Formats: sequence, structure tokens, C-alpha cells
Amino acid sequence: MGSYLYERLTAGAQGEAPALLLAGGQVLSHADLAAAAGRYANALVRLGVKPGDRVAAQLEKSPEVVMLYLGCLRAGAVFLPLNTAYTPAEIGYFLGDATPSVFVCDPAREVEMAAVAGGARIVTLGRKGDGTLADLADGQAETFADIDRGPQDLAAILYTSGTTGRSKGAMLTQANLASNAETLVDYWRITANDILIHALPIYHIHGLFVALNTLLMAGGAMHFLSRFDAGKVLGLMDRATILMGVPTFYVRLLDERGLTPQAVGKMRLFVSGSAPLLAETHRAWQERTGEAILERYGMTETGMNTSNPYEGERIPGSVGFPLPGVDLRIADPETGKVLGTGEIGGIEVKGPNVFAGYWNMPEKTAAEFRTDGFFITGDLGKIDEKGYVHIVGRAKDLVISGGLNVYPIEVEAEIDALPGVVESAVIGLSHKDFGEAVTAVIVPEKGAARDEKAVIAAVSGRLAKFKCPKRVLFVDALPRNAMGKVQKAELRRMFAALYD
Ligand code: ATP
Ligand code: MG
Repeated sequence: MGSYLYERLTAGAQGEAPALLLAGGQVLSHADLAAAAGRYANALVRLGVKPGDRVAAQLEKSPEVVMLYLGCLRAGAVFLPLNTAYTPAEIGYFLGDATPSVFVCDPAREVEMAAVAGGARIVTLGRKGDGTLADLADGQAETFADIDRGPQDLAAILYTSGTTGRSKGAMLTQANLASNAETLVDYWRITANDILIHALPIYHIHGLFVALNTLLMAGGAMHFLSRFDAGKVLGLMDRATILMGVPTFYVRLLDERGLTPQAVGKMRLFVSGSAPLLAETHRAWQERTGEAILERYGMTETGMNTSNPYEGERIPGSVGFPLPGVDLRIADPETGKVLGTGEIGGIEVKGPNVFAGYWNMPEKTAAEFRTDGFFITGDLGKIDEKGYVHIVGRAKDLVISGGLNVYPIEVEAEIDALPGVVESAVIGLSHKDFGEAVTAVIVPEKGAARDEKAVIAAVSGRLAKFKCPKRVLFVDALPRNAMGKVQKAELRRMFAALYD
């Protein structure tokens, strides 16, 4: 039987056809990856990894990380990748929480990590294919009798990005990942002829499961870049068909003079997600390239929930339709009452993509599910009359001023439309009269006036008084994490005392 997920990820594999195209011109075929996964699976077993054990890894992006991930699946282990930005103290927390039997880190970090590894055995894997795990795997056989893992067994634990609080470990089953990849391959028409530009990190769901799993499953190929570089990505577009990126990829590519309809000639699909894509970026992209970016919406706990259509209108500012098999509804956050078309409420989802719960957090898991099995995503949104889903922000970022709800995106959209504004973030800051005061943080264009009164005057003609910012602050850039998510909690901390 083997691993339910691994079997599906390799079902479309084309033997000697390319899977990973590396910067130096080296090519790894699907057969090469399968053989390497066999060696890594053997190595893991040699290290004492048992079915169901967690194998944690904090590694710079390299083909070996893909081999390790696939090796974990074949060995029946639960893959647990960790953000490369985490400090040893943070890693210590995750290892203490997840109690992996093996922790794989960069050779350069072995000593500092030994102090926080707890009961996990440390092995190393470097970006150049060096390290103790690489050496061990090198000496192993390629053949491996895959450990049986069924649809409900865990395939991975992925920690959420920590945008709204401490990261939670989402337990993802073999069926969660397989079903979501199958749905996306079908919805986005991914085939063995596709070549994806892979410039995302692979410790996060976007690069690991949305990008990698779908291309593996379809038997396609990937230009495997260690990180995003706008010039390099643009240069690859005559040898690729798909780009998956976060909104900042598209913003930076728009700064490249060479971005023209000719330059993107061979590309058939530009996907954006992980953070909201400004409608303005969507329009600018279409003007410059003739292509409409396809925005989709998902999260660590659920994989992808919605997508704009492959054929049909891709609406700027919308995340599209619920994917086949995904039930999505808008409900009153407090009462759970299901709301109607156009009404704003909490986004709740149910389907084969929805995770098995938060690792070690049974109460938190119970609190985030309705009794009928719907998962409360923590995002707020609405469904329009055509069935498109629109996200208006996170429940935790909702501003309640004078007892009234203010959806930051509505205010941000007005501010972003003003001349001289690059972008903005609207937050609620504690205020003795209003409870929270609507506060705008603006990134002005270079050389533009930083005129607080003018901004307030301009939007007050367009927004109800309670939605208007009480104060406007100017910054050179908004704080973002590696996935391009604006860190509103960080902004709230920075300006916490503004109204004291
Ligand atoms: P944490 O749950 O730890 O606070 P996080 O929610 O940022 O962190 P992820 O699972 O990486 O962690 O991100 C999922 C969230 O990203 C979604 O809940 C949603 O808020 C946001 N998101 C993803 N895609 C989109 C999109 N296309 N438009 C707007 N927001 C998006
Ligand atoms: Mg989240």
C-alpha cells in the first residue's frame, strides 16, 4: 500500500522527465527524486525514526529538502518544516512542543541548536548537499519498501505564520494534502508540460504544498530558485509556464522595465496568495503584460479554499469561488448564524482539505470548529451575488470604535486611492473615549507630502465619520514577514501609546 500521499504525488511522474531545474543547469528527474527519497527514507530508519515520528527541519531551500520531505513520506514520518528565520530560542519552543525524534539543521547551526534540541537527535543538511544526514543518505540503497500510511494518518505538521499570535501546529493528514493538490492540479490545468518558477520558501504551505505538491503530482518541472529575485524570475519567463507568488513578487516584478507582453510570452498562469493582492497591482499587471493574475485564498490549516476561475473572470480584490469539494459559508462570528449574500461575517469552511486539529491544543481545536464540522478561519469576508468571495480582513484586525465595526480594508481602499500613497494599513489603537481609535499608517510615494490633515479631509468626504482615521502616521515601509504579510500586531505595538 505505501504512503497514501506519496503514491498520489508520484502517480503522474514521468521517469526521466525533469522535475527540478537548478541554477547551475543541473537537472533532477522525477526518477532521481524518487531514488533520493528512497535513500533518505533508509537514512531516517537508520536514525531510529518510526512511523508517526515527527522529523523537524530548519533548512535553507535546496533540492535536498525536497528529498528529505519525500523520504519522510516514504518512511511514514511526519514532516515538520520550520521557518529559517527562527532563532534557537524559538526553535527550542517548537521542538519542545512537537517532540520530534530527529531535528535536521544547517551544519553551521549545529552547535547552537544542540542546546535547544531536547530529546531530538540532531543531524545536519547543508545547502550544498553537505552535512551528516546527506552523508548518511549517500551511503544508503535507493530501494525502500514504503511504510503503509492511510488517508487519515498525519503527513505533516506545519506551524502557522504567527501573524496574529503564537504559531500553532496544524496537523495535516495524507488525505488533506492529496485532495487539495488533486483539486488544484485540475482547477489550474497543471500538466506534465508545465514548468513552474519556484521562488517561494519551502517551509510554508504556499511553496511546499501549493507549488511543489501540485507540480510533482502532475509530473511537471520547476525552476527551483533558492530565493526570489525579480530579475532572475523575469529572465526565466521565456522558459516557464506558471509563476506562484506572494503579492510582493508581483509588486517587485512591476518595477522591472523588462516586464512586457513579450517577456511573459510563454507564461500561461500567474497565481497570487498568502496575503491580499491590491486591486491596483492586479490592474497594473494586466496593463503591462496582458495577463490577469489569478488570486486564491488559503491557510496553513486548510490548504486552498477558494480560487478565481481559470477560465472566466478573475476579479481584482476577490479571491474567487470555493474550490470543488470545499463548503464555504459566511457566519456571524458570535452566534454562528449563517449570513446571506453580501453580508460580512466570519469565513467558515468544511471539506477534505480541512486539517485534523492543532497539535497539542485540544481546547483551541475545539473552539475553532462549529458543531457541524465547519472550521472558523478567523478571516472576515462576504460572498457577492455572482458567488465570488471577498476577504475584508482578519477578525483580530477588526477595529471596534465607539461600539461600531470598522473593516480596515474599506478605509485602506480609500486611502490607497489618494494621490501620493503607495499603500496603507489601518489599525485600531486603544483610546479612552472610543475604545479603539481608527488609525491609518501610510507609506507615501517618494517626495510626496506627508500631510495628516489633508488625508483625513480627503477621506472624510467619502467615509462615515466613525470610520475616518483619528490620526494618520507616515512610515517608509510597512512591517512584513517573509510571506509578504503585513504585521498589524507589530504596528499596534509600535504605536500603542499614541492616544495616551
Ligand atoms: P497565524 O494563524 O499564526 O496568525 P497566519 O494566519 O498568517 O498566521 P498562514 O496560515 O500562513 O498564517 O496564513 C493564512 C492567512 O493568510 C489567511 O487566514 C488569510 O488571512 C491570509 N491570506 C491568504 N491568502 C490570502 C489572500 N489571497 N487574500 C487575503 N488574505 C489571504
Ligand atoms: Mg491563521
